[in-house]
Amino acid sequence: MKKSKAVTSESVMTQSRPDFSDNMKQPNDKESRYCTRCARALKACLCEYIQQVPHLAPLHILQHPNEVAHPKGTAALLAASLSHARIHVGENFADADWLNALLADPKVQCYLLWPDDEALTLAQVREGRGQAREVHFILLDGTWRKAYRMLHSNPALLGLPRITLGAMAGQYSIRKKPFPEALSTLEAGYHLLSQWEAEPERFAPLMNLFTELNRQWHDFAQGRRA
Ligand SMILES: [Zn+2]
Repeated sequence: MKKSKAVTSESVMTQSRPDFSDNMKQPNDKESRYCTRCARALKACLCEYIQQVPHLAPLHILQHPNEVAHPKGTAALLAASLSHARIHVGENFADADWLNALLADPKVQCYLLWPDDEALTLAQVREGRGQAREVHFILLDGTWRKAYRMLHSNPALLGLPRITLGAMAGQYSIRKKPFPEALSTLEAGYHLLSQWEAEPERFAPLMNLFTELNRQWHDFAQGRRA
């Protein structure tokens, strides 16, 4: 994985490998109501269900600032569950040096998860791909409108080949979806990497975590109704 350049206000790493293993040993900040590891409220901490999965293709999550503290966001859970995932917070990625260097790297081919009409399936990517280039994936974490603006903030990002996971009903029942097949970030990361690396069993901890998250929210909703 490429080293990121100095962190700027537009590209703040909230989770990074390989620091996460050290992070897990740190005690939580007693002054904060939020877990420093999974970014969730302490009473909703899911760290005990997070199991870091090794994988080959690095995943870069571009996260809109509104999503950082969103109680129903799942990007931090996804990043914490993967050995080569990183969150970069920002709205405008035009001047993100790490991203521009990555997109210009001739040894790397990035694919953007963006399921529009031109998007390729992972099978099509696999067929058409030269063996020489290292595959990286980029995922945008934000509402549809915010993600669209993030995408358009960087012409090289906009020009990337796009991929779709195909028709796949999200199981995420706790957050309003813009369209029926919308997946949570955690589900999208799971389907993307388990399909690409063709080994769903290895990625099972991500779906276990997702199940736990849903269980927690349903319990919470029922508790409120009681
Ligand atoms: Zn936690």
